Amino acid sequence: MSIRAKTLLIIGSTLTVLIIGMYALSQIILLESYVQLEEQTMGRNVQRALNALNDKISVLHSTNVDWAHWNDSYEFVDDGNQDYLDANTYDGTFILYGLNAMLFVNADNEIVFSKGFDLENQVEVPVSESLAQLAIDPQSPLGMVDAEGELIVNGVGGLLMLPEGPILAASTAILPTDLSGEPRGRLIWGTYLDETSLASLAEQTQTSLTLLGLDAPAFQDIDLQGIGENYVALHTPDSHIIYGSSLITDIVGQPAQWLQIDLERSIYNQGQTSLSYFLLLLFILGGVFAVATVLLLERVVLSRLAHLHQSVANIPNDRNLSPHIEVGGHDELSSLANAMNTTFESLAQTQERLKQARDHAIEASRARAQILANVSHDARTPLSVIVLRVDMLKKELYGPLNEKQRSMLDSVLASTKQLLGFISNLLDGAQLESGKLQLRKAWFSPTKLSDPIKDAFLPLVSHKGLALNTTIDEGLPAQIYGDSERLTQILFNLVGNAIKFTQTGSIDVHLRCISPTHWQMEVRDTGIGIAPEHQGRIFESFWQVDGTSTRLATTGVGLGLSIVKQLTTMMGGYIELKSEADKGSVFTVVLPFEAAQGESNVRAEVRVNN
Ligand code: ADP
Repeated sequence: MSIRAKTLLIIGSTLTVLIIGMYALSQIILLESYVQLEEQTMGRNVQRALNALNDKISVLHSTNVDWAHWNDSYEFVDDGNQDYLDANTYDGTFILYGLNAMLFVNADNEIVFSKGFDLENQVEVPVSESLAQLAIDPQSPLGMVDAEGELIVNGVGGLLMLPEGPILAASTAILPTDLSGEPRGRLIWGTYLDETSLASLAEQTQTSLTLLGLDAPAFQDIDLQGIGENYVALHTPDSHIIYGSSLITDIVGQPAQWLQIDLERSIYNQGQTSLSYFLLLLFILGGVFAVATVLLLERVVLSRLAHLHQSVANIPNDRNLSPHIEVGGHDELSSLANAMNTTFESLAQTQERLKQARDHAIEASRARAQILANVSHDARTPLSVIVLRVDMLKKELYGPLNEKQRSMLDSVLASTKQLLGFISNLLDGAQLESGKLQLRKAWFSPTKLSDPIKDAFLPLVSHKGLALNTTIDEGLPAQIYGDSERLTQILFNLVGNAIKFTQTGSIDVHLRCISPTHWQMEVRDTGIGIAPEHQGRIFESFWQVDGTSTRLATTGVGLGLSIVKQLTTMMGGYIELKSEADKGSVFTVVLPFEAAQGESNVRAEVRVNN
């Protein structure tokens, strides 16, 4: 993934996480606080409604007390005078106090006077039977007797649940104005808590009020005994309306009804709207932030980084090792580009120097090979002439020789042949190095390799008292295709070394077939051997084991094995060495069977059978 894509991914995912996080937090914190605000508002409204109801009860009760503790009422309940009735119980009194019922009960619990009134239609109606029954019952809540059976002088006021509906009732003992003397009964007032009075309460409190029974479905799970005085039951059926209900108790403090008010969820919905705006703003700001960040990053970092990357990536295609990368600005990126430019420049300079050095080395090597080839070639001609002439002298073609002269000529011949061999090696080495040496391949018999060895080395071997054995295995084909002269050269080098570095014992030359595809020439001696640490280097040009015993034995310059290895490799083979100091060495040249051009590769067995 490119850095640009990674950057976009990081900014995008960070922003998404941020928005999701903000959304979750605002849901929890903001919306929750709106909900709390809504509940508090609802609580206040419910409390206002309750206060209004309690005010209504207390006004009813206090007026009722005024009337009951009055000399006129005291006399009336005793004598039932018409004047009192005419002056006080006319319809206007009911309308003024909002009364539905008025009952005078004497000390014998008999109703002296009662009047019911329909406030809506403003007509007199009978007092309800259930209220009348409660009024004459001294044990009822309207009897005004407390738990100890004592009269409650200031009476009672509160809610009563009658079969026809809830009623706000007040009952006070009838006494003289100065409260002296025995009570002559009780004065009972009642105001039904019907739709009309609820509507007036609602208007007063600017709320919408409903009375619900204790068994209403919404409150079935509420434990009525366990709730406190200020408990408000909240109910939100949907996102538009919220209901808050408070339990109201009757005149004796028993749970009687739920007073419920409903409100539109304007606060909650306002919260939702604010939240939506907030999120929208968050999205817009987030988007603007992301775009601005990406653009700035693109301008300040990414495009320059991409340019830097492209410039470096193009270097192999342009083949220009000293490009000038320009990224602009003054920061780490431009410093990096400058550092890279400096590195490229020094790399290009180094490469140029290396190229020049290589050209010089190639030129020098070519010149050296050429000089060597020329020198070797030019030196071989006179040396061959010397050998020829010495040979003719030895054969006494130019007169008889005495012993001393013959011995001198032998010495001249030996030294000249040695020099000739050295020059031949130099020439071969130079030709191999310059790739000019050509193999001349033809069919030949393996004996062509073994026979010259004996001819050439037997006098030397006998002189050193060594044995020289040559063996050709039967499995080896009668004819082998290859350059017999170069193979002979390989064998001469190996056998020459073996004789050179062996004082006692034998030298064994063994030609054998080792597989249908390969054959080998093995030269084994019982000489001084080669220490393991030298074995890896003896095939290098001009390398010799540095030691007294070797130095004494050697007359070469360290080219022989190098030429052997190069020739073997040219022929598609390889050379192996096994040697142990003071025990002897075994050099094995492994070669593939080759086929002459136009012939198929001939297997060893087939040729043996022929
Ligand atoms: P050189 O002309 O000195 O013989 P070669 O390349 O043929 O050069 O051999 C390199 C060195 O390897 C020799 O100088 C000698 O130290 C070691 N060497 C080669 N053949 C033998 C051997 N058969 N036994 C012991 N040492 C050997």
